[in-house]
Amino acid sequence: MTLRLYDTASRTVRDFSPVVPGRVSLYLCGATVQAPPHIGHIRSGVVFDLLTRWLRASGYHVTFCRNVTDIDDKIIRVAEGEGVPWWQVAQRNERAFSRAYEVLGCVPPDVEPRATGHVPEMIKLMQRLIDTDHAYPSGGGVYFDVHSYPAYGALSGQRLDHMRAADDTEPNDAKRDPRDFALWKAAKPGEPTWDTPWGPGRPGWHLECSAMATKYLGSTFDIHGGGLDLIFPHHENEIAQSRAAGDGFAHYWLHNGLVGLAGEKMSKSLGNSLLVDAMVTQVRPVELRYYLSQPHYRSGIEYSQEALDEAVAAYRRIENFVTRAAEITGPPGEPGDEPAALAGALASAEAAGAPDAGLVTGSTGPSPARALLPAAFAAALDDDLGMPQALAVLHDSVRAGNNALASGDTAVASARLTEVQAMLGVLGLDPLSEPWAGAGPGDDLHAVVDALVGVALTQRQAARERKDYPAADAIRDSLQAAGILIEDTPQGPRWELKR
Ligand SMILES: [Zn+2]
Repeated sequence: MTLRLYDTASRTVRDFSPVVPGRVSLYLCGATVQAPPHIGHIRSGVVFDLLTRWLRASGYHVTFCRNVTDIDDKIIRVAEGEGVPWWQVAQRNERAFSRAYEVLGCVPPDVEPRATGHVPEMIKLMQRLIDTDHAYPSGGGVYFDVHSYPAYGALSGQRLDHMRAADDTEPNDAKRDPRDFALWKAAKPGEPTWDTPWGPGRPGWHLECSAMATKYLGSTFDIHGGGLDLIFPHHENEIAQSRAAGDGFAHYWLHNGLVGLAGEKMSKSLGNSLLVDAMVTQVRPVELRYYLSQPHYRSGIEYSQEALDEAVAAYRRIENFVTRAAEITGPPGEPGDEPAALAGALASAEAAGAPDAGLVTGSTGPSPARALLPAAFAAALDDDLGMPQALAVLHDSVRAGNNALASGDTAVASARLTEVQAMLGVLGLDPLSEPWAGAGPGDDLHAVVDALVGVALTQRQAARERKDYPAADAIRDSLQAAGILIEDTPQGPRWELKR
């Protein structure tokens, strides 16, 4: 099986073949930190987290770089409006993004560079472009000459003679052609500036990403990702700068679909209730992660309460099976049981992907973690990260597991549990694993409630045996009034908290 990915640059699904066998370098355009994230911003983080996890489960050693754009027109405008320095706005929103990625279970990137920390790298790149006549300093700014790069427009499928002025064009700026874009913006009164050989100013957005991607991943790397709305002008301009300077740059361009609201791209005015902070008071973070993970990554999401509710119900079906089956087959992590075997397999997959751990042959081969997965699930993810198909396989396993539980077939239920947890582990959705498994004070409380419910259930059983059904029902009703649902199963009664 080979991983295949849709590459925007070639407009085809291509076999994935990394620059260095066994290793993957991935750059994702991260947040421009002018506001806290809504689910549209964070979807890209979740999508590329799924890709990173799948690459790692497939045995690749992944270097994942996601930048922070911490200087930008919009940040400066917000800061002016609030009467605070630009860096206060940037830092506050960067923290909000970090919290949102973390709360949704996204594995942190290996490196998370900030634009303002990479001005020397940007100056070097501009110097190379000026030396080769691809860029020119003018009026205190530095501009990229789009005529100097014949492939300009190839990524977004546009011809230069049909293009309009670049969106960073300002009245009376010093561009030779309005379609040229700014690599560096001349200093303006009241704005932050950094010194360059061409005068003080601040970086253009596109230049930042080229400079940071090549600093951490090398002049040629594997995958560049971002939302569909970044194809033009941002990624078109990144390619132009880097290729014109002689860098190979990214080999694959992956773009995730956007989150819309009633057919419109989400805007700040519409999106306040869809801020991640607000959403996770409405649904649990793992449910929000499931909601954002389930469509194909290239499809758009039209947000609706109904679709969110359906996703929550679907995740709870999975979770319900996993918790019930784990109760019967024993707690996870004890020596010799299957979840422990899975944890071991995942750990050795990490080791196999780690540097200096036997990848010199360049063969990646299926990792131990993959070996526990149903073949159809792995094939679905290998086919351009086909989440809808992969989740269909997962739900089939859950159904089969539930049938086994209903008929009291513990061996089959246990085998299905192993399989389901292996799939959930790859997707970062296992309710019994970090970060979703309870690890706080709630855990102690769970044991206390479990003991108390046990006492009540013993009394209910005694009432039933003496045929005092009103007393038995009263016990069940008072548990329910306290938020505890009782379910009679072939393996005996079990309880869970009402959600
Ligand atoms: Zn970028």
